[in-house]
Amino acid sequence: MQSPYIFNIQKFSTHDGPGIRTTFFFKGCPLQCMWCHNPESQKYEPEYMNEKDGRNQLVGKQYSIKELVKQAQSDQIFFDRSGGGVTFSGGEVMTQDISYLEELTKQLKRTGISVLIDTCGAAPESSFKKLLPYVDGFLYDLKFLDTQKHYKFTGVQNQLVLKNLQLISDSGGVIYLRLILLKGINDDVPTMLNTIAWLKNNCINIKRVDLIPYHDFGRDKYTKLGRTCTQKFEIPEKDRLEDLKNLLEAAGYFVKIGG
Ligand code: SF4
Repeated sequence: MQSPYIFNIQKFSTHDGPGIRTTFFFKGCPLQCMWCHNPESQKYEPEYMNEKDGRNQLVGKQYSIKELVKQAQSDQIFFDRSGGGVTFSGGEVMTQDISYLEELTKQLKRTGISVLIDTCGAAPESSFKKLLPYVDGFLYDLKFLDTQKHYKFTGVQNQLVLKNLQLISDSGGVIYLRLILLKGINDDVPTMLNTIAWLKNNCINIKRVDLIPYHDFGRDKYTKLGRTCTQKFEIPEKDRLEDLKNLLEAAGYFVKIGG
């Protein structure tokens, strides 16, 4: 069993699922989204970030399962009061050592802590099958329904992403569908109508749709990592977000703007 690298443990998060949550951010991702605001999450190995004060900060640390369970247990009172729990995020957590994740999930569940997984879906089907019986749900990031666009903006095609979404739904897993919206690229009405039609045609069972407008908060991290972020996207208009929300609600979905 190999301990993955974690680049952040975020306490008191209110954007990674219901209630107050502690989020473990795992390092390593098969995608390279052009807008990624956590570029330090993309490589699987530790790396240095050059901070403004000149310090080199090592990003990526291994934790034993026992240590992570202990971290989560120290916040259990907040989880219990708010209906929260732990979220595994990244990077792409589902591409990490699945035996480690299975054991971590089982131990958290044994202590009564809810576990959600934030995923882009580009991970082995077998890994989803393994964790499905234990986790309380998935925050499922669907970047593009269109395969060519998915490839263009993330570097990876989306067949596996759609297949795993179907698998979770067919297996009765809870899905919070997260749609990142980029102005002029996928925030138009026809794109949303196509997405709704695909979800309906494939009987994908969704608990909630989260519309996540693009933001550019992570751009300075590229410089700190010695990389260049060449792409700049635009934030969708508020009215457009409301229009898309209305479309989804008319189709019968519970919708939230923001994570
Ligand atoms: S899936 Fe998430 S972590 Fe991976 S590159 Fe895209 S935005 Fe970044």
